[in-house]
Amino acid sequence: MSDTYARSNLAAIDAAHHLHPFSDMGKLNADGTRIIQRGEGVYIWDSQGKRYLDGFAGLWCVNVGYGRKEIADAVARQMNELPYYNTFFGTTTTPATLLAEKVTSHAGPHFNHVFFTGSGSEANDTWFRMARVYWSAVGKPSKKIVIARKNGYHGSTVAGASLGGMKYMHEQGDLPIPGIEHIGQPYWYGEGGELSPAEFGVKVARELEAKIDELGEENVSAFVAEPIQGAAGVIIPPATYWPEIARICKSRNILLVCDEVICGFGRLGEWFGHQYYGVEPDFAPIAKGLSSGYLPIGGVLVSDRIAHVLINEVGDFNHGFTYSGHPVCAAAALENLRIIEDEKLVERVRDDIGPYFGKVWGALGEHDLVGEAVSVGLMGALQLTTDKASRTRFEKPDAVGALVRNNALANGLVLRATGDRMLASPPLVITREEVDEMARIVKIALGAAWKELR
Ligand code: PLP
Repeated sequence: MSDTYARSNLAAIDAAHHLHPFSDMGKLNADGTRIIQRGEGVYIWDSQGKRYLDGFAGLWCVNVGYGRKEIADAVARQMNELPYYNTFFGTTTTPATLLAEKVTSHAGPHFNHVFFTGSGSEANDTWFRMARVYWSAVGKPSKKIVIARKNGYHGSTVAGASLGGMKYMHEQGDLPIPGIEHIGQPYWYGEGGELSPAEFGVKVARELEAKIDELGEENVSAFVAEPIQGAAGVIIPPATYWPEIARICKSRNILLVCDEVICGFGRLGEWFGHQYYGVEPDFAPIAKGLSSGYLPIGGVLVSDRIAHVLINEVGDFNHGFTYSGHPVCAAAALENLRIIEDEKLVERVRDDIGPYFGKVWGALGEHDLVGEAVSVGLMGALQLTTDKASRTRFEKPDAVGALVRNNALANGLVLRATGDRMLASPPLVITREEVDEMARIVKIALGAAWKELR
């Protein structure tokens, strides 16, 4: 390690100078930041030399696992050949163009175009503008309002945070911006009451129809949702939900946007979440698994219906980022997708490790503290409860979730807590033994929390 990095007082430097996203910075400075220094496969090591199984793949993104030399080599090659050029004003670079071909080849057949961005948030801002441009071009300029969901997450830019339905984000900075409305989420455990999951799925989907009626179809541009809500707590919708949403969007001429930033690139055992749920969105923002987080890159898959109008009617879409299609990030993404293809990671999640994870994770539902243990592919959640039969929630959900998360961390497993839901999203290369190790540590973490809470 070079001298620049070999500093023993990193925690103090961090506290003095580094403002962190989504962190209580006073507390963080008092406790000291965990400094992660190395990764290999599904494991990461901190500056104390402690090893953790990363059950969260970084931030839902390190799909191919850590330490892939092939990606580092592809990046180094591209850095040496052409570290940067843009894709504005009639130019492109080889990796950006090849990535556009590769990424669209795995999406639904109606997706043949992609617009690159630097992140998932920028991807959401991009389709938000593109949808308005589309409706204006087809003579329906009043179709502007986007309907999104409470507790959705679509990023941290002004439009992204507004599209998201996180109250604690809206409270900071007067969001949402005008032109964005929110309907309910398909969270049966917490909000389904006496309805069956199937009934609740239809009921909550129909909130979309009611909202369109309220706003007037002629004023509504699009509906956006994650195939499975991630940050909200891995909220897996009842099977009745997506077909009803797709029906409503189609019959009311509303664009459907599936935010694939988490679900894309194999997490659900299909290349994309819209394929898992059998729907055909008009836009699909992507990021994270596109490069497995090795370098920042995102984009929006754009359906033929929209692309045709953009290309033939609009011409110049006055939008873009300096790093749209960045050649080094695109080279990393291309190599990442090659690995996913060659190692058949999507099929592996669908046919082998996903079902195994589902079985092992599902068994955690037997613990007294767990109300439901759910998963699709390699994306899972444990709902913590005070009483399984009545689905009763803790008075202080954040405190209970944090307790279990910290117990897991102390025992060498990274999990995320969203309120009283424990979230898992391990790298797609995780082995059966490593899944067993995750479950073993989760049981220890739950057991310790159970003792403390009684
Ligand atoms: N959309 C979803 C579903 C996400 O989970 C995220 C990030 O977690 C984003 C968008 C924003 O992506 P980024 O953090 O790359 O801006």
